Amino acid sequence: MVWEPLSPPSVLEVLQKLIETPSVNPSIAPNEGQGEEAIAKFAQEWLAEHRVRSWLETASPGRPNAVAEVGACKGPTLIFCAHLDTVSTAGMTIPPFEARVEGNRVYGRGSYDMKGSAAAVMAAAAALGREKFPGRVLVALVADEEYASVGAQDFVKNHKGDACVLTEPSEGRLILAHKGFVWAEIITKGRAAHGSRWDLGVSAIGKMGTIIAALERYDRSELRRRTHSLVGPASQHCSLIQGGAGLSTYAEECALKVERRTLPGESPEQVMEELREVIRSTGEDAEIRMLLERPPLSCDADAKIVKSLREAIRSVTGRTPEVAGVGYWMDAALFAAAGIPTTNYGPGGAGAHEAVEWVDLDSVVACANVLVKTAWNFCG
Ligand SMILES: [Zn+2]
Repeated sequence: MVWEPLSPPSVLEVLQKLIETPSVNPSIAPNEGQGEEAIAKFAQEWLAEHRVRSWLETASPGRPNAVAEVGACKGPTLIFCAHLDTVSTAGMTIPPFEARVEGNRVYGRGSYDMKGSAAAVMAAAAALGREKFPGRVLVALVADEEYASVGAQDFVKNHKGDACVLTEPSEGRLILAHKGFVWAEIITKGRAAHGSRWDLGVSAIGKMGTIIAALERYDRSELRRRTHSLVGPASQHCSLIQGGAGLSTYAEECALKVERRTLPGESPEQVMEELREVIRSTGEDAEIRMLLERPPLSCDADAKIVKSLREAIRSVTGRTPEVAGVGYWMDAALFAAAGIPTTNYGPGGAGAHEAVEWVDLDSVVACANVLVKTAWNFCG
C-alpha cells in the first residue's frame, strides 16, 4: 500500500510519536523539563525521511527549532507554525507520555497544546512535498512558547514570510485577534521604625494599599468598559506582592506586580502612562517600571491569508468557519510584529495545562488537509 501522509493512520502515527517524546519546558519546570532537543530531532528526521528539506536551528543553548522548507521556493512564502514544548505533567491523572487512543481521542501531555497541531503541520509538509508544490512553505516547529518564546523570536529574526498560519488549537475557528499583556512593578517606600513609634514610622504597605484600591477601581470602572469586538474587555490584576521585615517594624518597602491584558490597538507606553496616572490620583508616590510586554494580535479580515484559509476550511469541512478572537497570548503576535500577516487555526480537544489532556484525531486530520489547501490557495 502507498503511504499517504494525510490519512488518519499516518497522522495518528506521527502524533503518537510526538506525544511519546517528552518535551516539558525546562524554564517553567526545572526539575522535570526535558527541553525540545529530542522532539525537534525527531520532527526534523521524520520530515527528512519523507523527503522534506529540514534542519535544526538553535534558538538558545539546548533549545532548538525544527525548520523545514517545501516547494519550488518561488513566489510567496507561507509559514506554518506550531510549538514543540509543553507545560509540566504535575497533577496529571493520566499517563502523560503514552499517547493512549480512546475512540477518536488521543491522550497525553501536549496532545492538545499543541502536538496535534505539530502533527498536522508535519503531515501537511510531507503531503506538499509529494505534490510538486509550486510555491514555498516554511515549517516552524518552535521551542519555548510556554515560557519566553525564544523559539518564535529566533525564527522571525532568521526568516521572512508573506503570511503565517499559527496552529494553536482553535476548535476549527478562524482566530483573527488575541490580547497582549504588560507586566509592571510598582514600589512604595516607607520609613522603617520600631512598631511602637507611630511618630517616626511610615508603612510602605499602607501606602501600597491605597494604590491597590485605586487600581482595582480603575480595572472595574474603566478597563472593563473598554472592549474589542473579538477579544472582549481589557483587564488588569494585582498578581504578586511583597513587603515588610517583621511584625513589629514599620515596613520600609513594598513591591507589587501587576498584569495588564491589552487589546489590539493599545500600546505598552499607553498602559504605563495610565498606571502612572492611577498612582498620581492617589496622592501617594511610587516608582513604577515595566518588566515585560507582549503585543496583541490583530489580522485584517480581508488579508489574502485569511481568504485562503477560510476557503480551505470551507472546502475541507463543508462549513464556513466562525471568526473569533481569544483572550490568551500566542506566538502569533511575534510573527505579526515582524510584519507578517498572521492568523490562527487549529484542531479541537480539551485540557491544555490540565490533569487530563486530549486532542480530537479527526480535527487533526482536518487541520492537516486545511493547511495543504491553504498553501495551494495562497501560493498556487
Ligand atoms: Zn500552545
